[in-house]
Amino acid sequence: MTTKRVVPLIFERSTPGRRGYRLPALDVPEVSIDQLIPQEHLRTQPAELPEVSELEVIRHYTQLSRLNHGVDVGFYPLGSCTMKYNPRVHEDVTSLPGFAAIHPYQPESSVQGALELMYNLSEYLAIISGLEATTLQPAAGAHGELAGLMVIKAFHAHNGEGHRNEMLIPDSAHGTNPASCAMVGYKVVEVPSDDRGGVDVEALKKLVGPNTAGLMLTNPNTLGLFDENICTISQIVHDVGGLLYYDGANANAILGIVRPGDMGFDVVHYNLHKTFSTPHGGGGPGSGPISVSKDLAPFLPGPVVRKEGDKYVFATPEHSIGRLKSFYGNFLVYAKAYAYILSHGPQGLREVSEIAVLHANYMMRRLQDVYYLPVDRHCKHEFVLSGMWQKELGVRTTDIAKRLLDYGYHAPTVYFPLIVDEAIMIEPTETEPKSTLDEFIEAMRAIAQEAKDNPENLTSAPHHTPVTRLDESRAARQPILRWQKS
Ligand SMILES: *Cc1c(COP(=O)(O)O)cnc(C)c1O
Repeated sequence: MTTKRVVPLIFERSTPGRRGYRLPALDVPEVSIDQLIPQEHLRTQPAELPEVSELEVIRHYTQLSRLNHGVDVGFYPLGSCTMKYNPRVHEDVTSLPGFAAIHPYQPESSVQGALELMYNLSEYLAIISGLEATTLQPAAGAHGELAGLMVIKAFHAHNGEGHRNEMLIPDSAHGTNPASCAMVGYKVVEVPSDDRGGVDVEALKKLVGPNTAGLMLTNPNTLGLFDENICTISQIVHDVGGLLYYDGANANAILGIVRPGDMGFDVVHYNLHKTFSTPHGGGGPGSGPISVSKDLAPFLPGPVVRKEGDKYVFATPEHSIGRLKSFYGNFLVYAKAYAYILSHGPQGLREVSEIAVLHANYMMRRLQDVYYLPVDRHCKHEFVLSGMWQKELGVRTTDIAKRLLDYGYHAPTVYFPLIVDEAIMIEPTETEPKSTLDEFIEAMRAIAQEAKDNPENLTSAPHHTPVTRLDESRAARQPILRWQKS
């Protein structure tokens, strides 16, 4: 049922003797391969590679790329991921030779512009977060979490409080939060949510203590809800000597409106590849800078850029936890983020978040009569519905997600956050026109109607995609990841 092959395998196109390249004549002395590679590492049989022309290779990969869904092809409402459109002008910026053609071993004096960019970006991110100092080193959000937690750990140890080994994390948290804690050797203490979807403050009071290293929170949380008790929460954690970590992957909801530093947070990570104009979803490169309070600044991973007179220099903070990334991190991602911040300006950044939040609320209100809304509050940049009503009709959230593919949409995030049964997490972002939001709403409503009238059409979906319903458990258990000669 699923094996119709949409693009023939490149191996099946192979014709003996066909070539896709032409090399120039050798102009250096020829060296035989076994002089370069030890005998035991040499192949005994030649590799079986497809023999194809350049045109066939181009067609093959172009055809494959057209099977993909991306934000350039259609709406991509993947909650918690901020799959928004990234203006092309920021890609142009990264191809300027002064950015694209520099080398990390160049002397600082010859890359002052690049250092200035890193310095200014660090300052802007500190301003946006309401905090003091920034490192651009981490390469992703989860890497930023690791950096932030290592900084917290180093801070406690420096103050003779190395026994603090517990990190509080709400049950709605993104999976990377507990994983990062495990990486630095912290014990995760789960904090339950209350019926408004926020941190259960009474439960929190009972969970904090002398071993509390801190609390990791994303606010708005993964339900897309802003925790109104945040100042009480940070007070409770600070009162016992703990620190607060802000998972800023959701910054699309708060830019220019509220600053994590004002909410009492001591560390924030950003996902430049979600909020600040680097596309993501393909596995990188990304960037997860962290901004921290004044007390934590000496512990930041280096190098950071400092300004000395009118010169920019690399420096290592006094009690730095060390390096987390080779060289200076993913510089071209910084260039895009910097261009994005400058091109929007303070008011423009605020509008990004205002519109992202407006879009999410508009969509949520227009869907809540057909999909169960577990917490009926205004949301921030994303919202979570439940497929519970459809489940009673024999249709699961996964079927709804698959059916959306037939309508030309990437599926939303499903079955996350874990605290909502049959969760459907939708993040429209600020970059879509209202007409797209309306078309998506109509598709979701049509699917809800189909669940009543023709559930089989959902449970067997998708029908119009190049590959139809896959056997996901077999794909996970017996993956075939490379071509095998039959
Ligand atoms: C995406 C995300 C992360 C992790 O970011 P990566 O860059 O994928 O490592 C962490 N927390 C939340 C809430 C996220 O949405």
